[in-house]
Amino acid sequence: MAVNRDTTLDWMSRFAASMQEHREELVRLDTAIGDGDHGTNMDRGMRKALEKLGAQEQADAGAVLKTVAMALVSSVGGAAGPLYGTLLLQIGTALSGNNDVDLQSYAAAWRKGLEGVQARGKAVLEDKTMVDALTPAVQALEQAPDLDSGLKDAAQAAERGMRDTIPLVARKGRASYLGERSRDHQDPGATSSYYLCQTAAEALAG
Ligand code: ADP
Ligand code: MG
Repeated sequence: MAVNRDTTLDWMSRFAASMQEHREELVRLDTAIGDGDHGTNMDRGMRKALEKLGAQEQADAGAVLKTVAMALVSSVGGAAGPLYGTLLLQIGTALSGNNDVDLQSYAAAWRKGLEGVQARGKAVLEDKTMVDALTPAVQALEQAPDLDSGLKDAAQAAERGMRDTIPLVARKGRASYLGERSRDHQDPGATSSYYLCQTAAEALAG
């Protein structure tokens, strides 16, 4: 398989389906350490994104991701909308004009996306946020021998990063208001970020 317009459309439609499927799980995780809206936020945002994708022809993989980013920013309140918007906007911008993306440019695009999330939200590793799933995923891509294994390794790395948020105390976002009481819960944003990487592997890897 390859990273092009059609596989990226498939990725985004799988991610939307995943946000619908895992909506209650994400709500439950966010109820424990936040305000309980992460699942509804992401589900609503990705529904909007699919509407936008259906309404207009997309030129390439970058255009698909930029369209989704805009839909998330405009339809999702809270922290996650702008952060996912930034992630996908940066990845999309980096891939723009490229319709057969290789491992190196795909990994570089994800690195830009992660940098965008961190510039915007100021979270570093182990602050118990989506950055904890995305960082090992990007590292896995950067170290992979080829695109297919990179996508699969990235999904596994994101899953480990997600689980590794459980013992952490949150230092960013709403969960940080809980201090020590945020410990022993899995971060909702790291969980949705794992699903983003998982659906990327399903749609983009052979
Ligand atoms: P809100 O916290 O505004 O209700 P959501 O519930 O949709 O927004 O998203 C919460 C998730 O956003 C958290 O689980 C965390 O992963 C992520 N998050 C919150 N603040 C930051 C930040 N500053 N940097 C990175 N991720 C963050
Ligand atoms: Mg919330």
